[in-house]
Amino acid sequence: MTNGEPSVTNLPTIKFTKLFINGDFVDAISGKTFETIDPRRGEVIARISEGSKEDIDVAVEAARHAFDSGPWPRLSGAERAKIMMKFAELIDENIEELAALDAIDAGKLYHMCKALDIPAAANTLRYYAGAADKIHGEVLKVAREFHAYTLMEPIGVVGHIIPWNFPTSMFFLKVSPCLAAGCTMIIKPAEQTPLSALFYAHLAKLAGIPNGVLNVVPGFGPTAGAAVSSHMDIDAVSFTGSTQTGREIMQAAAKSNLKHVSLELGGKSPLIIFDDADIDKATHLALLGILLNKGEVCVASSRVFVQEGIYDEFEKKLVEKAKAWVIGDPFDPKVQQGPQVDKKQFEKILSYIEHGKREGATLLTGGKTVGNKGYYIEPTIFSNIKEDMLIAQDEIFGPVMALKKFKTRIVTKNLDIANTMSRSIRAGTIWINCYFAFGDDIPFGGYKMSGFGRDYGLQALHK
Ligand code: ADP
Repeated sequence: MTNGEPSVTNLPTIKFTKLFINGDFVDAISGKTFETIDPRRGEVIARISEGSKEDIDVAVEAARHAFDSGPWPRLSGAERAKIMMKFAELIDENIEELAALDAIDAGKLYHMCKALDIPAAANTLRYYAGAADKIHGEVLKVAREFHAYTLMEPIGVVGHIIPWNFPTSMFFLKVSPCLAAGCTMIIKPAEQTPLSALFYAHLAKLAGIPNGVLNVVPGFGPTAGAAVSSHMDIDAVSFTGSTQTGREIMQAAAKSNLKHVSLELGGKSPLIIFDDADIDKATHLALLGILLNKGEVCVASSRVFVQEGIYDEFEKKLVEKAKAWVIGDPFDPKVQQGPQVDKKQFEKILSYIEHGKREGATLLTGGKTVGNKGYYIEPTIFSNIKEDMLIAQDEIFGPVMALKKFKTRIVTKNLDIANTMSRSIRAGTIWINCYFAFGDDIPFGGYKMSGFGRDYGLQALHK
């Protein structure tokens, strides 16, 4: 644990703290602000204007005007693409500052944000910029003397309600297809992580995105978030977050104007490891699957099933590796795991760990907090899991793995296993011999209570 002073050289100065509406940074109508907290030490970074229903109303009015009368939906795809490319370039020019904002606001690893999250987000913009002039309908031969055509139109004003675990990736996977299609939008970032979203608003303006097209209104879920999902003049709402909040958003959409809804919700993803796996690789993937971004990942490998032939060796190696995992300040390049996003998540994870112990699961390693400041939790692995235990059922959203042994061999050859398993599991994504294999061109989304609609891929243009 290197939980001491951060390498202060990387710390950003906070430039944007107000709501971004119709091309300007403005105070909330109520004048209220809220604190955004640095989870490394539990200290206040800045006070952010707190958007509420009245601010959402003003932002929607701006977005509606920009959609109904502004240039954005009327530009050619190629013209929108050019501006989106410029936006992507500006992100690349500011990578270090943006990486530092996500690191300080969400406790994410600075070097990973710099190498991955931020440049990948610029590429997401470029991917959809490439699609902006390729959105077209079909001509249908209806009957001998008639034909019909379909026209792909931008849906209108879109509300994006996003979570705090990947503030940058979430922002761009939502915003990019909408920009390409010619929509206008309101983005409600998570109250835990408003900083980078406001910086992106600034870059959008610099890139030449017209006023009113992209509005960013930080605030809390039950106020600002609920004002988006229940608004009568928003045409679609796209949400990523918890299953419970997803239900509320869908209800609000149904009760207001039946706006289009897409939901990317929680999960309890299983990682299944067969006897013929390479143990080094499998333990690495299992650990990365649950510890990447401190387990604050909706597709974290929170349940790991290992076949009995290799179980003992797997468990031993896994625990050894978990013990060597480096926890500490997310600005330190040696560190593999930073603090949980906030006190609420930190306490929630610790209470699940206590629950696991009480329910009789075996705590193989971890389970404790690290340091006496900030929200750090040790990599935690439980074995002897029973299916009805809370830690085997609930999405914990932290560095806590439920490890289970299984017997049945389904088929003998790898390829056969891959094909049989991927067809028999009802899941939005199945990764084989890898984990976190994301791509701008790969549609991403859930089955069952993990939601519906797809982010990424050309499908995101049509959701
Ligand atoms: P968590 O509980 O882990 O913070 P949520 O799913 O509640 O996860 O939060 C994800 C996003 O949803 C955040 O931007 C949050 O402000 C927003 N949110 C929370 N509650 C509501 C709600 N009732 N209506 C709309 N948005 C909400």
